[in-house]
Amino acid sequence: MNNTLINRDRLVRTFIDLAGISSPSFSEDRVFDYLSENLRQLGLSVTLQEYGQGKNLVAVLPATDPSFPPIMLSAHADTVGPCNDITIETDGVTIRSDGTTVLGGDDKTAIAEIIETLCVLIEEDLPHGRIEILVTSGEEVGLVGAKNLDMGLLSARHCLVLDAGGEVGTVVIGAPHQVSFEVDVRGKKAHAGIEPEKGINAIVVAAGIIQRFPVGRLDPRSVANYGWISGGGASNIVPDQITLRGEIRSHDAALLESHITRLREAAAAAGNDSGATVSVTITPEYSAFSISENDPLVAMVREACSQTGLPCTSVTGGGGSDANVLAAQGISCVNLACGMRMVHTNEEYVLVDDLVKAASLVTAIVSDKVRLLGNSLPPG
Ligand SMILES: [Zn+2]
Repeated sequence: MNNTLINRDRLVRTFIDLAGISSPSFSEDRVFDYLSENLRQLGLSVTLQEYGQGKNLVAVLPATDPSFPPIMLSAHADTVGPCNDITIETDGVTIRSDGTTVLGGDDKTAIAEIIETLCVLIEEDLPHGRIEILVTSGEEVGLVGAKNLDMGLLSARHCLVLDAGGEVGTVVIGAPHQVSFEVDVRGKKAHAGIEPEKGINAIVVAAGIIQRFPVGRLDPRSVANYGWISGGGASNIVPDQITLRGEIRSHDAALLESHITRLREAAAAAGNDSGATVSVTITPEYSAFSISENDPLVAMVREACSQTGLPCTSVTGGGGSDANVLAAQGISCVNLACGMRMVHTNEEYVLVDDLVKAASLVTAIVSDKVRLLGNSLPPG
């Protein structure tokens, strides 16, 4: 496999087309229209699965060689903001926005690379197995599309999620569990100037919780954050209500549970000391995913990197992706870097060379190395 099969200009055009389509979470329809048209032209069957807030797109390219195992390629259609009226600038080496919006390389690099891979397979008549394309919506706001995915539309047991940062060749082989929490503090109002002793200051109680449960890096495998606080009224009123929101992530389920318990204990202690009523609501966001370095899927990616001339680096990530949700459904997943840089900022950019490298890697996998999976099934 060499990079010359990749049509660099076509790949750049596809990426710029996609990046130019504004697609905030749950407003991805124009991306799905673009994909439906292009994927059908390439001979794929396309299904749009609607759920409450959004849609998932599943497209299937039937196998030309049934000895290849099926493989799923996944990406997401939504981007973070600001993403209205995206103006794209390129000098042929770098692609970026005009600085007033994100570029949307997260995750449109992936979608463009998938389309280019399909174009190469078809025009070069390369043998391949069943290829399932999954493009989700609402990924950036809590992996919502993946969580609402109709798994019956898919049959592959292995998936390349294309949604990681880092140099192309980076393979994310694990990501943490995540829960979000909301702490509600109910104190008691009083006139701050006349009878403050009759009040229970919810801000002070919240401070007591924060002091008892400090966030940041909790242990080598876990982190937590307070991200939002709201409440109170006027400076002359003892405030009776505060809401505090945050999250805890851990690669270890037992550690996660112990930190949740510590948060609950901190809240209860601060409530007891003050007489305030404190409640903690924990919302699981997603489970961890973890795949062994020795798993056939990781070995396959390593082989494909080597064939494509890319250094292969496996890493454990700190954030969730659709891989967390798909892995929880029993699909064996890795998350591959696809060339997005400085994502979630207006300085975001993409190197054209990275698009070509990532498309070459995916092409090497689906047209050849996927056979290394043989009949292996994900563990469990
Ligand atoms: Zn992403």
